[in-house]
Amino acid sequence: MRWRWMPVPEPIPDSVRKPTPATTPWPERLAGARREREGARRWRRRRVNDGAALDFAGNDYLGLALDPRVSEAAAVGARRFGAGAGASHLVSGHLAIHEALENTLAEWLGRERALLFSTGYMANLGVLQALADGGTALFQDRLNHASLIDGAALSGARSRRFHHRDNDDLERLLARSHAAHRLIISDGVFSMDGDVADVNALAHVARRHQAWLMIDDAHGIGVLGEHGGGCSEGMGSDEVPVLVGTLGKALGTGGAFVAGDAALIEHITQFARSYVYTTAQPPAVASASLAALNIVRDEPEHRARLNANIATFRREAQRLGLPLAKSTTPIQPLMLGDEARTLRWAASLERAGIAVGAIRPPTVPLGQARLRITLSALHTPDDIERLLDGLVACQREVAP
Ligand SMILES: *Cc1c(COP(=O)(O)O)cnc(C)c1O
Repeated sequence: MRWRWMPVPEPIPDSVRKPTPATTPWPERLAGARREREGARRWRRRRVNDGAALDFAGNDYLGLALDPRVSEAAAVGARRFGAGAGASHLVSGHLAIHEALENTLAEWLGRERALLFSTGYMANLGVLQALADGGTALFQDRLNHASLIDGAALSGARSRRFHHRDNDDLERLLARSHAAHRLIISDGVFSMDGDVADVNALAHVARRHQAWLMIDDAHGIGVLGEHGGGCSEGMGSDEVPVLVGTLGKALGTGGAFVAGDAALIEHITQFARSYVYTTAQPPAVASASLAALNIVRDEPEHRARLNANIATFRREAQRLGLPLAKSTTPIQPLMLGDEARTLRWAASLERAGIAVGAIRPPTVPLGQARLRITLSALHTPDDIERLLDGLVACQREVAP
C-alpha cells in the first residue's frame, strides 16, 4: 500500500461508513508464512557465535577482523572522531577519515574516485537505482548476489538473466535489446560457488554492444590479484566502468565502495538514495578499513598463506573423494544436492565443533544444496585436518 500525505478529510458519518472488507489478522499471516517455510524445512535458526567453534563459514579470508592493528585503528578512530558520524555525507557526516579511505581506495584500484557506502547491499541498491531507469536494460548473470537482483527491481529497469558465465547467452540477449542504455552486471567471485567471472571476456562483450560493465567483487577484493585488487586488478575504468567491492569480507571490517571515474561517482553521490538518505558509517569503521587496506596492500604473506590453505584443502578433499566444485578461491562448496543430507552433514560437523555454511534453496537453485566451506589465512594445517576428519565421518555416516 502507498502512503501519501493528503488533506484531512471531513469525517464520514457512521450511517454512511462502509464495513471494512474481510481481512486476515496479522498474526495469522505470519503464522502461515512460517508454516510454509517450516514445511519445506527451510526455517533458519541463528546461533550465537561465541568463538568456540572452528570457523569454516565466515568471509574473513585474511583474518583481518581479528588483527589487533585493525581493532586498534577502530579505537583510535572512535576516540578522534567520535562514536558516530552524526549525519549523512551530504549534510555534515562526511569526515576526514571517510575522505582518506575513499582516496586510498581510489588510488589502490586505479580509479579517479571511490565512494563509501555503509554496506554492500546498500551500495548495489544505490548504484543500480542511480544508473538505471525504465529506459535501461540490465543483463545479469543468473547467479548474481541477491542485492544486485533487488537493486535491479528497485531501479524499475528491464532485467534479463543470462546463463551462469555464458557469454554466448549474454550476447544473444544483448543483440535482441533495443534499450537506450545497457548495463552488464556480474559478481566477480560468485559467493555460493566460488568460481570467478571472466571479466576480460565480459569487457569485450560490453564494448561490442556499447554497454557498460559493473562488477561486484565482494569476495575478490583483498584476495585475488597480485596486490589483492580483486578479479579485475589491472583493468581500468575503460574496461570495468563500475566496480563495487565490500569491506566486510577480506578487509574484515564493514561497509562497501563503488569506484569509477569522477563523473560516475559524482552522479551516484547525487542520485543514489541509499547514499543520500542514510547516516555516514561510524568513523571507527572507516578508520579500521583504512588500516586493513594498508595491510592488504603491504603484506602479501596473508594472501600467500590463504592460497596455501586452499591448495591443501583441495588436494586432500579430492583424495577423499569429496564432491568439490571447480573453485580456486577461498569459497569451496561441497555439492551435496540433497537438502536433508546437507543439514545432516552440517549438524555432524557442528557436533565436532566445526562451523560450515549449510546453503539451501532459495539461496541456491533447487537440487543444489551444499556445504559452503570457506578458508582463511588463519587456519593452521591442524585446523584443516580436523575439518577433513569431520568430513570423513560424514561420508561414513551416510554410507549405505
Ligand atoms: C556479501 C555480498 C554483498 C553484500 O555486502 P554487505 O556489505 O555484506 O552488505 C554484495 N554482493 C556480493 C557479491 C556479496 O557477496
